Amino acid sequence: MNIFSKAEKDAWRLPSKLTVSQWSDKPGNRMLDPDTSAEPGQYRSARTPYMRGPMDAFTDTEVEEIDVMSAGQVAKSTAIQNMIGYIIDEDPGPTMYVVPREKDVVDRSQKIFKPMVMLSEALRRHITGNPRDLQTDYFTFDRMTLYFAWAGSAPEMAQRTIKYLFFDEPDKYPLFAGREANPIAQAVKRTVTFWDRKIVKMCTPTTELGYINVSYNLSNKQEIFCPCPHCGEFKIWKFSQLKLPKTLRDPEKIIETGDVWYECEVCGIKIYEVQKADLVAEHIWLAEGQTITADGNITGQPVRSKRHSGFNISGLVSTWMSWPSIMADWFRANTEQGIAQGARMEFDNLTLGIPHKETGKKLKASEVRKLTGGFSRATVPADCLLLVASADYHKSRARGIVRIDYQVHGFGYGMRNWVISSGSVPSFEKLDDEVLLSPFPWADGTSQKEKPWLAVMVMFVDSGYEPDDVYEYCRQRPGLTIPTKGEPGPRLKPLQASSLESATEHRLSRRSRQRYRGMQLLIVDTFYFKDQVTSWAQPRMDDEGKIISPALTQFYDEIPSYYFTEFTNEQKVLLHDKRGNARWLWQPVTTGAPTHSLDTAVLCAAAAFYKGVHYLRPAKSQKALPAAVRPGRRPKHRRRSGSGFLDGLPEL
Ligand SMILES: [Zn+2]
Repeated sequence: MNIFSKAEKDAWRLPSKLTVSQWSDKPGNRMLDPDTSAEPGQYRSARTPYMRGPMDAFTDTEVEEIDVMSAGQVAKSTAIQNMIGYIIDEDPGPTMYVVPREKDVVDRSQKIFKPMVMLSEALRRHITGNPRDLQTDYFTFDRMTLYFAWAGSAPEMAQRTIKYLFFDEPDKYPLFAGREANPIAQAVKRTVTFWDRKIVKMCTPTTELGYINVSYNLSNKQEIFCPCPHCGEFKIWKFSQLKLPKTLRDPEKIIETGDVWYECEVCGIKIYEVQKADLVAEHIWLAEGQTITADGNITGQPVRSKRHSGFNISGLVSTWMSWPSIMADWFRANTEQGIAQGARMEFDNLTLGIPHKETGKKLKASEVRKLTGGFSRATVPADCLLLVASADYHKSRARGIVRIDYQVHGFGYGMRNWVISSGSVPSFEKLDDEVLLSPFPWADGTSQKEKPWLAVMVMFVDSGYEPDDVYEYCRQRPGLTIPTKGEPGPRLKPLQASSLESATEHRLSRRSRQRYRGMQLLIVDTFYFKDQVTSWAQPRMDDEGKIISPALTQFYDEIPSYYFTEFTNEQKVLLHDKRGNARWLWQPVTTGAPTHSLDTAVLCAAAAFYKGVHYLRPAKSQKALPAAVRPGRRPKHRRRSGSGFLDGLPEL
């Protein structure tokens, strides 16, 4: 019996039973724009099958929140567009789409969403024909409005009531401090009147504390399981199973040869890139708590409800990232330069789609203090191979009072190191006495005759405060002292030489500049070396908190306790700048409190780097070298290190 007229039925049209991926696959519904898409034309969900799970969660009535935490290139923007297209055509309701920055609003609304509507027969039906309906910050359709907001405008948008809320790249939203409104919380408040609301977040993760990872951890945490073509076992593909020949390490060569395979962790068979697409097509999404057997039976119960559905997508399954390119990225990220530029974090985030785990936790003064002992001040432990020093010069202009903080630091094999002396002196003469003029005796009392005592090989002197005094001092001690300037970093190179002539160009007369001709100033990336000295001062732990190896630094017996207060008064924090870019910075824990001991330790680490301590290897490890590269005999005349100004600067 038909109790509704056709008009009534149209007015009360319920959403069809299509899922978002089915709707998007229907010919003409989603046409990808040649201007913004690598593969223009009819959208096909089969191209990125792993996106069907998150998209179809949108049409699941039991799901209220969807988190997608993924690698960079997995078509998540397209998935958001498909969901919004589906809303417009099938299940209209007020919708808000939030992007990180103000300029992203125009970009997305005019360059992405406008073409999407105009290219789609299904969506064009819903525009009213008024050209002003597709504005920069909102689109008016026949049955709904789509608002475009950015993180900073979300609180203004708070008057509106929203049923569908999309957060695009929330980890790039500016951090909101103190009493300022959190844009995500503000926007979510707007949706409470809808029992059938949907909140979608899609993002490449940053750190464990980033929005997306925190949110994903509250979800049912679904992961992609792909089958092995040989044994049939379904596994979450892990980067650690990606293998290549031992002789292949050069990123360009890796791409060129493409000799990278996935080793099944069950049967050990090699799976190659060409097989990947077919296996990904057979993938299955499983929540935390569930597993699947080789014959396809799902066992176990999800730990949390699918009301909050989370999806983690690795670049290993991506249609647009090949395994060789991922492997090449890994080797690039692990060069010294890559590490200095933070490429390890980028690799985790953009390639693997996982948050970056900071290895160094915040240091506690009381913990570092435990590394004291075993030798007294100004004596050298037996394993020490070379000494470097640092000085930080301050002068009060008004009263001419000078204070120079210094530190002497010893280094041995495997980056083991000892702070053997530290303190402050009132003049350069006293600094010479304390640090440079005489060698330091062995801590175990070995005499100068039995084993020569060590003297400081090089001292880095910070010229940040009073450059001219420092340059003059260093000019008189060429080779032994080097003026430096700290930069907060991260920089391309941990240490970089710049000419002192150019550094003094604007301040000194031509004649005085000639005094410094040929002298160089070293720019020290304090970010890099702060990472280094703080990681040396803590034991290395595994994921369960068990100590793998003890801390590398030890401090002399009589070291004053303020050394440790100063040493731990900076911490590494993740900040988002106004443009929404996240970056790490070292910041004081207590603003204004001194950090002299940290600063001098950082300069010593830089001096040690300059002397190439990371190349120090015990003699026996030379046996491991193949005969062809092992030197037959030691060269008779070894160049005295520290003689030339930039001698010994390692290749960067
Ligand atoms: Zn297998």
